[in-house]
Amino acid sequence: MNAFVRAAVAHGQRGEVIVEAVRLKPLGPNDVLVQMKAAGICHSDMSFINGERSGATYPLVLGHEGAGVVLECGPQVTSVVPGDHVIPLGIPECGVCQACIGGKTNLCDEYFRDSGSRPFLLGDQAIRGFCDLGTFAEAIVVRDIQVARIDSAAPLDVICCLGCAGATGLGAALFTAKVEAGASVVVFGLGGIGMNAVQGARLAGASVIIGVDTNPSRETAARAAGATHFVDPAGVENLLDHLRELTGGGADYSFECVGNQRVLSDAVECTRRGWGVTVMVGVLPGSQQIELRPRAILEGRRLMGSYLGNIKTRTQLPRLVDRFLEGDLGFDSLISHRIALQDINEGFARLADGSALRTVVHFDSVMP
Ligand SMILES: [Zn+2]
Ligand SMILES: [Zn+2]
Repeated sequence: MNAFVRAAVAHGQRGEVIVEAVRLKPLGPNDVLVQMKAAGICHSDMSFINGERSGATYPLVLGHEGAGVVLECGPQVTSVVPGDHVIPLGIPECGVCQACIGGKTNLCDEYFRDSGSRPFLLGDQAIRGFCDLGTFAEAIVVRDIQVARIDSAAPLDVICCLGCAGATGLGAALFTAKVEAGASVVVFGLGGIGMNAVQGARLAGASVIIGVDTNPSRETAARAAGATHFVDPAGVENLLDHLRELTGGGADYSFECVGNQRVLSDAVECTRRGWGVTVMVGVLPGSQQIELRPRAILEGRRLMGSYLGNIKTRTQLPRLVDRFLEGDLGFDSLISHRIALQDINEGFARLADGSALRTVVHFDSVMP
């Protein structure tokens, strides 16, 4: 347990991520040790090094999406055993708080409580993992309520993307908006999350699924995920008029997956008065406020938000893995690059310049 593992550590804004050796703290009674097999690089990880996020504490092991195998469990852990395949969870599901017991939200009270967890030792300094995870490490120590046991038949280097992008995008369509068959849907921003929102709309049976992105190279993957139309805003005279025309007067549902105030306003305005629903998925920078035309809401449109697609992480997320195994879901067109942990800065560079959809980090199974 005291052996070293390699981890990608952020040391501050405007810096590179350093892949270096850390030690793992001993397991507490409710902790599990997970050997990471694969982890996806998300925009939220990048926000710790590109100047977007203020107030973070460094050093910090990045990574909050991935998949791995349980190696060891603390004495009070009963929900998983060594050998189980798991997805680490940015939002825990404790199973006993009001939020977990109720059917309305996935936002377990434990998510908002500072766990104080510092499972990695960098030299003598105990440091945190992003989302209390830090999946860009060869092994992680997390609480049992932070892992979802999944069918071991699923390829971990593919379904690793469910932990953030998959859950967030698919869930926004299926669990937050509850898109129904025959609906019209517009998805703004076709990164890893937006592509999954497209896929979620397809699963729900939406008949019109319009992907909107300023990067025309996203069209092929968007159509593979289920988009019936692709719109580059630069290619149309008036984006809102065009979207209203394609949807016969306004979309039933729209998803903002960019994190931009103007795009959010467009996402609301493109929906049908009377019943249009917009799900805010992208994270607006803290400096931006939401500005909406008051009548847009008075006319009966609704704006919703969700973290991780409002999917209960331990009880509902594994069902998406089952749907993948049943052939309903695909991630091949969404994973654009595969790299080793030591090349993680290349992955961040590709995310920053827009050339990557999802980059998956592979671990070479060096064990503590
Ligand atoms: Zn993420
Ligand atoms: Zn809970």
